[in-house]
Order: sequence, then structure tokens, then C-alpha cells
Amino acid sequence: MTIVKSEVTTYQLYINGDWVNPISNDYFDVVSPATGEVIAKAAHGDEQDTKLAIDAAATAFPEWSRKTSKERADILTRLHQLMIENADELAKKISEEMGKPIMQARGEVMNAADYVLWNAEEGKRIYGEIIPAATPDKRLQVIRHAVGPVAAITPWNFPLGMVARKVAPALAAGCTVVLKPAEQTPGSAILFFRLAEEAGIPKGVINLVTGTPDKIGDVLLTDKRIRKVTFTGSTNVGKTLLKKAAEQVKRVSMELGGHAPFIVFEDADLEHATEQLARNKFLNCGQTCISANRIYVQASIKDQFLSMLKEKVEKLQVGYGLDVTTQVGPLVSAAGLKKVEDQVKEAVAKGAQVVTGGTKPDLKGYEEGFFYQPTILADVNESMRIANEETFGPIAPIYTFETEEEVIAKANDTDFGLAAYCFTTNLSRSIRVSESLEYGMVGLNDIVLAQVEGPFGGVKESGMGREGGPDGLADFLEKKFISTVY
Ligand code: ADP
Repeated sequence: MTIVKSEVTTYQLYINGDWVNPISNDYFDVVSPATGEVIAKAAHGDEQDTKLAIDAAATAFPEWSRKTSKERADILTRLHQLMIENADELAKKISEEMGKPIMQARGEVMNAADYVLWNAEEGKRIYGEIIPAATPDKRLQVIRHAVGPVAAITPWNFPLGMVARKVAPALAAGCTVVLKPAEQTPGSAILFFRLAEEAGIPKGVINLVTGTPDKIGDVLLTDKRIRKVTFTGSTNVGKTLLKKAAEQVKRVSMELGGHAPFIVFEDADLEHATEQLARNKFLNCGQTCISANRIYVQASIKDQFLSMLKEKVEKLQVGYGLDVTTQVGPLVSAAGLKKVEDQVKEAVAKGAQVVTGGTKPDLKGYEEGFFYQPTILADVNESMRIANEETFGPIAPIYTFETEEEVIAKANDTDFGLAAYCFTTNLSRSIRVSESLEYGMVGLNDIVLAQVEGPFGGVKESGMGREGGPDGLADFLEKKFISTVY
């Protein structure tokens, strides 16, 4: 295992085409989750910096929105190319700040670049409509146009992916953007902005502010010039932003928390199901909103399932993200680690069995890091905290069920509705179950739900709006109906 000390970098704000110091002249620490050391200092922007960023986005909007979609696509295509050329540097930054294994960070960069290219192309297909009128002297038209300057607020778990998923469709639609990346992981967003500048995005079209979230958020939400807020993060913060957005009826897209059920029927291909579960659950150290959070296994296959899963989970290599052999990195913060430890302790006290893991790993040189061993808990029940809240960590809690009706009812018994998974080889069952699950996305013998071509998003308290596919671009567009007498 290599212990690498990172240099401390300083990040500025990006406002109106310039890299600038914050008005406060104050900087906050960005900490490595693997070592607990300060690896960067990020600008502590405040209300005034945010207002300047909105001024720039509002001023740049008319010209950017009037550009042809081909002009915008040409710039975005250059940005895509630059992301590919700089994939190593972007991936390294993601891994250093967020902790994820470098191979996963590389995957994130490629996926982020895909969103940029896909939206560049799709922007050329912002078609209008002619609707047949009821009288011969009328022409009924629908045109689509950019919603306006947009505020984008992104989380730390996919620090580049989430930025690209929001900024790319916004720009392709003709919107300008003020981005507030997560305070834990600003570095890859800053590199992305540098590449965007190099690709030729005009000044003011994209702006970046880091600092105290609620202060920046308040300015973004109360300034009338911001016409849309696109947010990925916790349900609690999402609800706060929604209430504020309601004051001005701002457009909103919200990708919030999940509590994903992962259902395995006795007729499933167990090798495939356990392999997919081990990948889904421990990807990003369990810190994804579509991570399996409640694993329902039909009682008749419980023992076989547990032993097959255990074998796979025990092979996972935990360690420093930049070590190429690492498959599971640290949690992002001390708070994230504590939540996991508390959930496990409470579940065990109430009768859950630790099948594997359940402790911090012994990693020489990384004693201060926020690591936790990939863990399987059996005999979990609904009275435990882990059954009722998102874990966001490397814990696989296993529940058993007897019938299809029972498991569907249990899977739907939550306020969340982001992702659900069902593993079965029975065709009729696959149709019944996937259509009965009250979720925005269902993986049927599949765990890959974040695909650039498809609509990613949730129902119920998991959010509104979709990212990816034509819906992702449509979320940044308004329709205008023009009725003409001629
Ligand atoms: P997590 O708990 O996963 O960090 P959060 O919802 O707290 O999720 O954070 C997601 C994003 O929302 C981050 O960029 C964070 O800084 C931002 N954020 C948190 N609170 C607020 C707020 N009150 N207003 C605006 N943005 C916020």
C-alpha cells in the first residue's frame, strides 16, 4: 500500500470569466477522507460573491440563449474532448477529495464526459410543434426556449458526475449557470470549469461559488433572476430549498435520498444476483443514492445467498483510493463513519448478526481515515434504525420474505421512491413486480441505472424531475404556445 501525501492547493471562485478571491478573503479546509489531512483550501464565498455570480449569469443569458444550438454544441463537444484528454487528472482529484477508488473515479469522469457529449447532440433537437387548429385562419405553434439562469447545487458523492449532469443540459438548452459544489469536494468541479473555459464557454455563462451552503443557497433562492434550481442531495435540504423556491414559483429539479429495496427471489440466478449486489452495495463505499439499502431475500434461499455473498464481499480490497488495487475506499467524513457505526451497533444490540465486517479495518498509515470494513448483517428487522433510514455506507442488511405480495408491500412501505432492484428469472413475476414497485427506476436483473440515455430520478420524497435522456434536457426548457390569426 502506498501512502501518498497530497499538496495543499488553493481554490478560488469563478465569476464572470475570472478566477477571483472571495470578498471575505477567507478559505476553508478540504480534508482527505483517507488520512484526515488538509489537502486544499477553498474560497469561503458569501452572499456578496453569490450576488456577483448571479449578476454575471443574468448578464450573459440573453446572448448565450440566442446562440444557435450548433454553436453551443460545438463548445460542449470541445469540452467533452478536453475531459477525455484530462481524465487522469480529473479522476485523481475526485479520488483524493472524495476517497473513491481511482478506477471508479475514472468511470465517473467518462460518464460525466458522456453527459456533456450527449447533451451537446440533443441540444440540436430542441424541436417545436405545429398543432392542427380548429379554424382555418389559425396557426398554433409551440416553441421551446431556455428557462433562464439556473442555480445548480451538487453533492460530494459524485463530485464531477453530478456537476456534468446538471451543467451540460443547462448549457445545451441555452441556460446560464451558478454552481455551488459540495464543500467536501470542490476540486474536480474547479478543474471542469477550467476545461470549460478552455473549450470556449463565454464569460458569465458558468460561475462557481463555494462557501457556507445556506448563505449561498439563500441568495440563489431569493434572487428573482434565477429561474430554476437543480439540486442533488439530502431530502431534508431538498425540502428546505423547495419551500424557498415556492415563494417565487421557481422551477425545480430535485434528486434526493433513497432507501432502495433489492429483492432476490428463489428463482433468481444467484451467482449473478450476489455479484451484482456486491458491486452495487460497495460501489463508492455504499455512498450512492441508488445503493441497495434493504436487501430482501426469499427465505428458502437465505443460507445459500448469504454464503455466496459473503465470499464475494470478503474479497473486496479496502484502502486508499489512489492505490489501483483498492475496491472500497473510506467514507467521506467522520460524520458518515459515525452514522454507519451507530447503525451497526444498534442493529446488533437488537439481534442482528454480523456475517462479515462490522469493524474498522486495520490499515497501516490510514488510522485517521474514515474507513469501515464491508459488512453484511443478517436477521435485520423493521424495528432497527438501519431499516428506516438511508445508510450511505458499506453495510448490506439482509431481510427475509416468504411471498411476492409481502415483499412488494415491504419494498413500497417507505416515503422514498428512487431506485429498486428485482432479481428473478420468472418473466411474469418480473413484469408484475417491476410494475408494482413505486419507484422512479427499477433494475431488473440489473444494477446500472445511471445511464446517459435514460431518465434518472425518483418519485415520492426522492424528488422530482429527471436527469439524463431527452427528459434531462427538457427540464431546462419552457414551452411557449403561440396562437396566430392569419
Ligand atoms: P449530504 O448530507 O449528502 O452532504 P446535503 O443535502 O447536505 O447532502 O448537501 C448537498 C448539497 O447541498 C451540498 O452542496 C451542500 O453544501 C448543499 N447544501 C446543504 N445545505 C444547504 C442549504 N441550506 N442551502 C443550499 N445548499 C445547501
